[in-house]
Amino acid sequence: MRNRIDTVMPCGCLCGVSLGPGDPELVTLKALRFLERADVICCPATVDGRGALQSVAIDILCDLGLPEERFRIMALPMSENRKLAEAEYREHFRQIAADCREGKTVALVSIGDAGFYSTVSAMIRLAENEGIPCSLIPGVPAFIAAAASSCIPVALQDDRVRILAMVKDVDEIERALREGGTVVVMKLSTIREYLVSWLAASGHSFLYAEKVGMEGEFITSDIDALRQRPIPYFSLLVCSPYCRPKAGSQNTVTNE
Ligand code: SAH
Repeated sequence: MRNRIDTVMPCGCLCGVSLGPGDPELVTLKALRFLERADVICCPATVDGRGALQSVAIDILCDLGLPEERFRIMALPMSENRKLAEAEYREHFRQIAADCREGKTVALVSIGDAGFYSTVSAMIRLAENEGIPCSLIPGVPAFIAAAASSCIPVALQDDRVRILAMVKDVDEIERALREGGTVVVMKLSTIREYLVSWLAASGHSFLYAEKVGMEGEFITSDIDALRQRPIPYFSLLVCSPYCRPKAGSQNTVTNE
């Protein structure tokens, strides 16, 4: 009966597939198996100032040996212009929806976890509104991988964990820290200029993680190692008592 419905009205599906923060070994077996049998693998990529495509997702997919002929690059401009970004999005969605209606299985990949600050969610919502069956495969978020790289826990016992993103100012982080527990700050560009001076003045113990699992990874709890860092897009901060520099051990991990 199910076969008959499929032949009469082919209906593919859209799956948001999490790739983890960058290290291909942090892709789950479930994600890999789905990608191996997907008809189309949609990979978000950004266009840099010189017009070159940048995509950590594609690097991971290539490392996994997945066939490039099934990749579909979804180029998105690195633009603050939301209208432009939304127009690009709608066009990418139109193609995804057309593939699904032809009965294809479409994977839309995301760095880290696809449900955690990911543009995948917007696509899934649009697809669901059109009656396309959707699913999500979870993955390792970057902050979890960052803590693991330094061999520290994110939380223990009754610790609270607060996650902030694009904070307006460092006071917002201070307020969260006063509540106790662990504070994770994603998307640091909004406080790029004040980050080091605030950490130095406040004396909070921290873990700063840049490009976790990617080429150029840099992780430190040492304020001196953080001075002069440009604080790129792929960077985050974890503040908790577990982030204290460890006596006699190396407090900076780098593969630059
Ligand atoms: N879905 C991702 C989050 C995407 S939002 C996840 O689950 O982790 C983008 C922000 O995530 C970046 O600004 C940065 O703060 C953080 N981020 C994502 N990948 C990272 C990485 N490999 N290293 C450091 N920070 C990362």
